[in-house]
Amino acid sequence: MLMESRPPKRLAVLGHPVGHSRSPAMQNAALEDLGLGDAFSYEAVDLEPEVFAEFVSGMEADGFVGANVTVPHKRAALVLADLAGPAATAIGAANTLTFESGRIRAENTDAPGLIDALSADPAGSRALLLGAGGAGRAALWALTEAGAGVSIWNRTGSRATELAAEIGGSAIADPQARDFDLIVNSSAAGLGGGDPFSDLPLEPDGFRAGQVVVDLVYGSNPSPLLEAAATAGATTVDGLEILVRQGARSLAIWTGREPSLEVMRAAARG
Ligand code: NAP
Repeated sequence: MLMESRPPKRLAVLGHPVGHSRSPAMQNAALEDLGLGDAFSYEAVDLEPEVFAEFVSGMEADGFVGANVTVPHKRAALVLADLAGPAATAIGAANTLTFESGRIRAENTDAPGLIDALSADPAGSRALLLGAGGAGRAALWALTEAGAGVSIWNRTGSRATELAAEIGGSAIADPQARDFDLIVNSSAAGLGGGDPFSDLPLEPDGFRAGQVVVDLVYGSNPSPLLEAAATAGATTVDGLEILVRQGARSLAIWTGREPSLEVMRAAARG
């Protein structure tokens, strides 16, 4: 008798552009490792903003059970949801969608993923957040919820002030990096190989031992910012580790299983 094989449950990362994303390699490796390689498949789908809502509304009918959402669709993803978790609601953006019986549930795993990646509990620490865009919003909410005191610097200072008024922390115009226990770069400075020190209020020799320095920007490995921080004896966390941590939380939501971080790291670093 022939066994009927079920098609895999589909998962995806939705973005524009999305061809560079490490998520398909990372998530498919984790699914394989969990013995779920035949039960689920994960792909990248490039969607222009104009077609995002229509595509998402048809995903369950097309066999999708969940999706990660990346730039520029995270706010739109929350708007489409029938249900939203507290992080997504507070941040105003979702990076994880689940399709269940005609309903869309939205969550934000970027925020807890950042906290997971830190080597120490940030409660009571003095944190400097660089950047007040989408990634900065999630980082600010995560750090504030975790009990850190956050100073926010942004190239356009008024956006830092607005974000602090909305979510918490306080804007700072001229931070001294040495004063902080934790420094998180959520700005796009350094993206595409530029020199982050020419655009940020940081000096290459301005870090110290005992600090934790996070750079959400990934590309060159290590980034110039993390290279300088490591030279000074600081603990560093790179953007791929943050990607792994948010992805691990998303996969646990969809499958109910805890994926191997080692397997995800190896695939993400590819
Ligand atoms: P976004 O919403 O467009 O915000 C960009 C931010 O970067 C703004 O604060 C902007 O300041 C600042 N900025 C841009 N160019 C700058 C420069 N040359 N010098 C100083 N500041 C600059 O983008 P986003 O979604 O927040 O993403 C920001 C970065 O985080 C990107 O590099 C992205 O790849 C990275 N990211 C990584 C992960 C991860 O998982 N590792 C997740 C999300 C994002 P103004 O307000 O002055 O324009």
